[in-house]
Amino acid sequence: MTGRLSSAGLDIHLLNSCQVLTKCVIFLADKRAIFVYIAVMQIIKTTEELSEACEKITQHPYCTVDTEFLRESTFWPELCLVQLACPGDEWIVDVLAKDMDFRPLLALMKNENVVKVFHAARQDIEIMYHLSGEVPHPVFDTQVAAMVCGYGDSISYDQLVYRITGRQLDKSSRFTDWSKRPLSQKQLEYALADVTHLREVYISIKANLEEQNRSHWVAEEMEILTSPETYDMPPENAWQRLKMRVRKPRELALMKKLAHWREETARAANVPRGRIIRDDAIYDVCSRAPTRMEQLSDMRSLNRGFDKSRYGPEILRIVSEVKAQDPNSFPKIPKPKQTPEGCAACTEMLKVLLKITVEKYGVAAKIIATVDELEKIAADNNADVPALHGWRRELFGNTALDLKNGKIALGYNNRSVQIVKLDSDQSKVAAE
Ligand SMILES: [Zn+2]
Repeated sequence: MTGRLSSAGLDIHLLNSCQVLTKCVIFLADKRAIFVYIAVMQIIKTTEELSEACEKITQHPYCTVDTEFLRESTFWPELCLVQLACPGDEWIVDVLAKDMDFRPLLALMKNENVVKVFHAARQDIEIMYHLSGEVPHPVFDTQVAAMVCGYGDSISYDQLVYRITGRQLDKSSRFTDWSKRPLSQKQLEYALADVTHLREVYISIKANLEEQNRSHWVAEEMEILTSPETYDMPPENAWQRLKMRVRKPRELALMKKLAHWREETARAANVPRGRIIRDDAIYDVCSRAPTRMEQLSDMRSLNRGFDKSRYGPEILRIVSEVKAQDPNSFPKIPKPKQTPEGCAACTEMLKVLLKITVEKYGVAAKIIATVDELEKIAADNNADVPALHGWRRELFGNTALDLKNGKIALGYNNRSVQIVKLDSDQSKVAAE
């Protein structure tokens, strides 16, 4: 291509990498022919095209995937676009196109020979799981992997692309209504950029992990991410999403029942939970335990007109059911956790140790231990927390126990906090 265009004395413009080149021939006035390559974005609108693209992808060890969806007015996210890319090719799948059958895509999602690369995969996986009842596998999440490569906690896609490739992405189409058709060229380009640069990001991060021998660290995280339990929440456990704002066993019993009912109702009607009854209103109903419709209509936390909706009688029914229950059957209010003496100070020390570990190894703190988990280590040498298992124990857990048990100390020297080994005599001194 280059030679022919140059001999015709034309400038060559490099095309956007997210498009496929189609060859055309143009005859000039002097009868010379030149070839031009026209960029065409591959937009899939039929099952056959989808099947072809997926077939192409299976010849590669990985593909990058992203989805665009809406979930403002529904319980389940509404899938609008799927973007796919593999080395040398990229597509936008218009999943709203008439008669589109997703099966080739779902087969690709569970093809064990092709790694599905996402950035911040959770919501995308949730959508695929809801569509097919199966979790994509194998999966590689560049946001999670970036945490063990020194890019900090939860880095955004555009920041990661910038840090790895130096390219700045145009984010102006971020708040597009992806269910609208037709989408503009700019919106489509924005959507496609979510997978095109991801290829380079993946290659770079994968190499980084291999070089540092950290691939297995990420593999562990990916197994959690692709475990169906991560996405399956039984409606009877829905109360666990709520805050413990109740103080009496009867209120807790009511909160559990209301949350269970709301979860099932919202799923069945495919509307967000807050459209049925907001969290605030659940706490309110728990403390006031209304039994008459007028009491419901007085509650300002309830959506307007709630007393007249079909949900009003449901709430009253649940309240009276719980009121009729034997108080001995009510769940116990969990006691506020008691931290043993000295634990708070020890936790502070572990926080400092975590901070220096994070700096030394270029790993995000979040992936090693949360403050909650540090508290558990402070209280118990055998606490069942990730930081005391596997690679986290090697990196941090063993040192944390040594610090806690007086075998090492922290000292400040040369503008940095350092670990000081104590011999047994010093340990004794430290103990006194
Ligand atoms: Zn996207």
